[in-house]
Amino acid sequence: MRILIIEDEPKTAAYLKKGLTENGFAADIATNGDDGLHAALSFDYDLIILDVMLPGISGLEVCRYLRQQESTKNTPIIMVSARSEEFDRILGLEMGADDYITKPFSPRELLTRIKVRLRIQNDKKIEELLDDQKIVRGDIEIYPKKYTVYVKGVKQVLTPKEFELLTLLASNAGKVFKREELLDKVWGYDFRGYTRTVDVHIRHIRRKLGLDEGQRSFYIESLRGVGYRFCE
Ligand code: CA
Repeated sequence: MRILIIEDEPKTAAYLKKGLTENGFAADIATNGDDGLHAALSFDYDLIILDVMLPGISGLEVCRYLRQQESTKNTPIIMVSARSEEFDRILGLEMGADDYITKPFSPRELLTRIKVRLRIQNDKKIEELLDDQKIVRGDIEIYPKKYTVYVKGVKQVLTPKEFELLTLLASNAGKVFKREELLDKVWGYDFRGYTRTVDVHIRHIRRKLGLDEGQRSFYIESLRGVGYRFCE
């Protein structure tokens, strides 16, 4: 994780950098708005700590500009200002800052805020990834995140376990899964020995997807004595 510190006071900047590196982050310092913008746009930072009062372009301007750029529009930004400075928190958030902290603050307080932001960011990325991970195989469309499956454009209702089983098979199309493996992955260790459960669920999935005999073995192939495989 790499963090950009845009801060004109050398002591504060060094103090922040020290706190961050001690906690496993890499940190770069920019001491004015122009350098800050340049750094933010030349490197893919995970988070930006942005002082409000900067010589040249102000922190607010930097924030607004970064929000307009494709590569930085989603980068978490935590704005920093001294208590003595008149800073409109609402304006900061309107400019697109994710959070706001007032000097003086403890490294621990800042770290907590950073971790919260990074976690939210990570969750967002995962959600986007899952959204992108629509699985399409022939007439079947699976949306893993939404637990939704469409067959020829018609939504089909599966139980959670049926859905997880289908998703596991379809997202690994072509791979042969042993029943024991499917049990382990979908139901967990406790279900070992109940391989019939898999067969029953596969039967239900095939029926619920409205697949006819020919399609059944086309999409979900049974390999006698071995397990199942989703068509490639
Ligand atoms: Ca300053």
